[in-house]
Amino acid sequence: MNLLVFSDLDGTLLDHFDYSYEAAQAGLERLRIERIPVIFTSSKTRLEIEGLQAELQMQEPFIPENGAAIYFPDGYRAFRIAKGFQRSRYTVIQLGATYSEIRRFVYSVKERFNLRGFGDMSVEDVERLTGLSRQQSRMAKWREYTEPFIIEDESRVDELALIAASRGFKLTRGGRFFHLIGSQQDKGRAVRMCTEIFDKNMDGGIITVGLGDSANDISLLKSVDIPILLPHDDGTFEHIDIQGLIKAEQPGSRGWNDAILQVVDNLDESKATSVDRPFSQAIERNSTRKPLEGRNSK
Ligand SMILES: [Mg+2]
Repeated sequence: MNLLVFSDLDGTLLDHFDYSYEAAQAGLERLRIERIPVIFTSSKTRLEIEGLQAELQMQEPFIPENGAAIYFPDGYRAFRIAKGFQRSRYTVIQLGATYSEIRRFVYSVKERFNLRGFGDMSVEDVERLTGLSRQQSRMAKWREYTEPFIIEDESRVDELALIAASRGFKLTRGGRFFHLIGSQQDKGRAVRMCTEIFDKNMDGGIITVGLGDSANDISLLKSVDIPILLPHDDGTFEHIDIQGLIKAEQPGSRGWNDAILQVVDNLDESKATSVDRPFSQAIERNSTRKPLEGRNSK
């Protein structure tokens, strides 16, 4: 069995306030040694994720901007990918709308709802709202598909969502912002398509692990065999009802690290023996489930 990890970034691998992954070093190293791919599945942009991957000296496929696309680096594990198009050094499978389409919609509603997207903000504004560095804020503003935004009166979000739906868009919520995204995209759909590509290209079957903390991770967690929910920084959990959901004990990189080490340990153990543990039960239960598209989806 091959393990495949899909991980949210902000508030999950990265701590909420300072975006640190220090406490996750052991888990990251363990995945690297065992050659277990970790696919960053985030609302962050391609440039932001490329920056993080460079820092971590890794090159894996990734899913930016809330499931808008899947990027497979050229030559990755000699995979054959049937769909998708070539862009710079990637094969890209696009699920979302384009940023210019999203921005046209933002223009049409921004006065009425008093909302501001990243496209309406200066680099300094983004820096102040996110706590990112100047350079990171520039990379966060360089967008291809979706728009994070703030809205003056959050009670009007449902009204905005209705109008967005009539125009082919939808809303989701991350740790800091609302996001306007294409109606055909979510993290879960991208995760399922990505899993399918790994499944076609690897022998021995795939077990997927997903980690997330917010509402925009629900579809991700529903699309994996082993869903792991991390608490928010204040210790509360997003309300998510998924069978077999594992709740991490600590938020951010600490919770991520403990959960990853436990999953990998349990997988190794269940390979060697057939020890009866929660994780090996989950693996046992889910690995027989087919078809792929139907995994955990309810
Ligand atoms: Mg998050």
